[in-house]
Amino acid sequence: MFKNEYDVVIVGAGPGGSATAKTCAERGLDVAVFEKRQEIGSPKRCAEGLSSDAVELLGLKIPSKCIAQKINGALIYAPNGKCIEIDYGRTAGYILERKVFDKWLAEEAVRAGAKVFSKTKVTNVVKKSGFVRGVKINFEGKKMSVKSKVTVAADGVESKISRLAGLNTTNKLVNIDSGYQWEMVGIDLEDPKKIVLYFGNSIAPRGYVWIFPKGKDKANVGIGVAMTKKPAKEYLERFVESRPELKKGSITEVNSGGIPVGGFLRNMVLNGFLVVGDAAHQVNPIHGGGMKEATIAGRIAGNVIADSVEKGDVSKKSLGKYNELWWKQRGVHLEKIEKLRQVFEKLSDEELNELVDYLKGEDLVEFSRGRKLTRLAKLLMKKPKLIKLAKHLL
Ligand SMILES: Cc1cc2nc3c(=O)[nH]c(=O)nc-3n(C[C@H](O)[C@H](O)[C@H](O)COP(=O)(O)OP(=O)(O)OC[C@H]3O[C@@H](n4cnc5c(N)ncnc54)[C@H](O)[C@@H]3O)c2cc1C
Repeated sequence: MFKNEYDVVIVGAGPGGSATAKTCAERGLDVAVFEKRQEIGSPKRCAEGLSSDAVELLGLKIPSKCIAQKINGALIYAPNGKCIEIDYGRTAGYILERKVFDKWLAEEAVRAGAKVFSKTKVTNVVKKSGFVRGVKINFEGKKMSVKSKVTVAADGVESKISRLAGLNTTNKLVNIDSGYQWEMVGIDLEDPKKIVLYFGNSIAPRGYVWIFPKGKDKANVGIGVAMTKKPAKEYLERFVESRPELKKGSITEVNSGGIPVGGFLRNMVLNGFLVVGDAAHQVNPIHGGGMKEATIAGRIAGNVIADSVEKGDVSKKSLGKYNELWWKQRGVHLEKIEKLRQVFEKLSDEELNELVDYLKGEDLVEFSRGRKLTRLAKLLMKKPKLIKLAKHLL
């Protein structure tokens, strides 16, 4: 089954790893993906939301088995309880079955020619003459070394592989949110086709509570908050306790994990090595969604790897094209969104309430995509106290 040499070895079969693997395999490379979990995608660490725009941009033909619920809009609650409704009147997003989706992505990589090995933990990297030359793996107690021309760390937010390779990807605590979620059933939903978000410094400091429906009486009910405050779990418990429509439900899954919300890396490559996805902090800093970003990065990385292998040059300089392309296509844009997050987290509940009075649902969607930020800055400038914050956006 296992060979002792591949062109490319990828650590982790999340969206980032599978996208890199599929792209490399489509470009004719010999690829192995090693995934430490015994079942790809499980346990999920995700609210499973993906917008239709992302699906279209990525050109994904997602099979219906991966979709739990189609979404047509959102209900967004300000701290004072005022609700902004967004209704697209059409499918605008999906709540996926991440366990099925991640497995499907891995299967697509296999169909393109990659090999995937579950329950195979990468325990270290192999370095030779200043290059990363492969990895050490452990498959159910069987230990072996696998050589590769390029090694990819797609090992998620708790990534260790980059540091073992010699690339310091440690993120500042301030750039990591703590995510905690219950999949709940037997609850009442306002509208099973709308995601619901609650903002407020006492509800979820710096973050929000989300309800992402997965059926008529079923949803991912979760929270993302700044790491430095009380544990996310306490905030969620308090929120659910205060809502009779949720409190009466059952918890069928508990999911938790860190969410990078900034701290993008200028350099993501070494000789024979690069890093993608959460492991490289490639997440939308305002809503914490990372599936789209990991997939885009994986595709960029896959093409740069294929070009480098084809020309027989997998040096840091050659793989550095990935830094250049990612920053141009995503980094510059995501950094703008990071600034927006930094502004939002400084607003008091009263300021958030006031802002909501001026905004429409479409504005919020645009802001979360890093667009129309000048409009937001102008609104903030109406309040002398907020001028400094507004300037941060310009
Ligand atoms: C609570 C929460 C809610 C979220 N909600 C959303 C959402 O609604 N929408 C969205 O788009 N994003 C969401 N995210 C973020 C999203 O889950 C991640 O951004 C996304 O999974 C990143 O993909 P990835 O491939 O980079 O990493 P991952 O999906 O984390 O995959 C990394 C893989 O590497 C494997 N691995 C790690 N170390 C090793 C090793 N040594 N050897 C072998 N395998 C290894 C892991 O087992 C894992 O399977 C959420 C995150 C959290 C925590």
